Amino acid sequence: MDCIFCKIVAGEIPAKKLYEDEQVMAFADVNPQTPVHALIVPKRHIVSLAHTSREDAGLLGHLHAVASELAAKHELTSGYRTVINTGPDGGQTVGHLHVHLLGGRPMHWPPG
Ligand code: 5GP
Ligand code: ZN
Repeated sequence: MDCIFCKIVAGEIPAKKLYEDEQVMAFADVNPQTPVHALIVPKRHIVSLAHTSREDAGLLGHLHAVASELAAKHELTSGYRTVINTGPDGGQTVGHLHVHLLGGRPMHWPPG
């Protein structure tokens, strides 16, 4: 499958791995927008949040629980942001579901 994140999960493309278990993997974003910018992905190829259903609730919760653990590990004590971009209007550029963990500086709202 021609998917960058599946290739990272398979070890075919190098990435700075931050966490891994049976279901998910986290690695550093290659183009970080904040001092801490991690991507948490399911190992199974899922295109986007729009391609999930209630059956994926456990996995979706797990992705966020790992984001919370990584935030604690990186000592983001004053806060952080988690983001899932979905589809063209959501600004998604890689078609494999991922949660962004952004932290290490104050962020603004609303997003662009
Ligand atoms: P999206 O725009 O789909 O929400 O986020 C995709 C993210 O993946 C971007 O922040 C981009 O920098 C990151 N990215 C794209 N290609 C690679 C890659 O090959 N390795 C890593 N580590 N991150 C990537
Ligand atoms: Zn994939």
